[in-house]
Amino acid sequence: MTQRVIVRKQADYDYTSLRKNIFSIFECLTNGAFSAGQRVVVKPNLLSPASEEKAMLTHPLVVKAVVEYLLEYALKITISDSPAMGSFRKVLKEGGYLEALEGLPVQFREFKETRMVDIGKPFGEIELSKDAIEADHVINLPKLKTHSQMLLTLGVKNLFGCVVGLSKPKWHYKVGVDRKRFAQLLYQISKTIKPTITLIDGVLAMEGDGPGKSGTPRQLGVLIGGNSPVATDIVVCRILGIEPSRLLTNTVALEDGIEPDSVVLEGEFDVLRDFRFPNMGPIMFGPERIHGLLRRHLIERPVVDDDLCRQCGECWRYCPASALEKGKYAVRFDYEKCIRCYCCVEVCPHGALRVKEPLAGRALRKLTGLK
Ligand code: SF4
Ligand code: SF4
Repeated sequence: MTQRVIVRKQADYDYTSLRKNIFSIFECLTNGAFSAGQRVVVKPNLLSPASEEKAMLTHPLVVKAVVEYLLEYALKITISDSPAMGSFRKVLKEGGYLEALEGLPVQFREFKETRMVDIGKPFGEIELSKDAIEADHVINLPKLKTHSQMLLTLGVKNLFGCVVGLSKPKWHYKVGVDRKRFAQLLYQISKTIKPTITLIDGVLAMEGDGPGKSGTPRQLGVLIGGNSPVATDIVVCRILGIEPSRLLTNTVALEDGIEPDSVVLEGEFDVLRDFRFPNMGPIMFGPERIHGLLRRHLIERPVVDDDLCRQCGECWRYCPASALEKGKYAVRFDYEKCIRCYCCVEVCPHGALRVKEPLAGRALRKLTGLK
């Protein structure tokens, strides 16, 4: 299959031009893919309750325009995800989806039921959303955001939402500190789900310490649509001025034989030179005998801002490694146990957590030349 990506400039969420651009992207990419009555799962990024201006979730008007396009084919549409934090209903309400899609014949349904699916070695059978696996089409609608663990969350990463509820932190725990292994898992899930279209909402994107409330909204004014999530992710890297292989899910895809130069691109974009990526020091470096010491004192880790923390408990309830607990004023970390998955940073509803590399660790790396 030729990998096609269409890029359209879209300054803001003005609905008339947004709808026109989204219809034209879908028109170019779908090419007779849909027939009346087919079941379609639309999968936006519905991470946790947040308003539009936080740039954490796929904008509700992007979802609305996609739904209106799909309705022209008389498809049965379900809008689904498995939020990491907060109830599905609350995400829909605070995110503006109930209002934006009012009156349209669509169903909102949280991913709950699962089915075991073989995603290939080395992971084998894993539980994925039954609705996503059994749909005739999955339409993947990520938000363009930074990600403290994986650099960016785009088309491939958005499909991790098809891993339901608490299975997500379990998988984080299973793959541990190995980012590349996690990227492999994400890539294999995306290959299994195989979305018909991926459309990335980069109109109001997120830079800095994303993907949660510690990130900073950034107007990029771009929509990126493609018939493969790897292809859209490769193009986003180019837009952001980095080599596609800097994103580990792309690296894994390239090793699987995908050629970045084989992506057929339509549309123009300006390459950004000042996009702020998250702080990403190495999760481990140096010989194994010093790893315990490194974990405790020297490698990057989540830190809390005591003034922002409200001790709500979302982070310690979600942490897959039981590596943090309520502290005297905020939270307390056990860095020996912490696997640096940054789920806590992602789910904190008050933006109180961020990733920081201790000064001593950075200095040691520079001095010794260790990576
Ligand atoms: S760090 Fe965030 S999620 Fe954790 S208790 Fe404090 S406010 Fe809640
Ligand atoms: S403390 Fe945060 S980064 Fe560490 S394992 Fe728990 S959720 Fe992951």
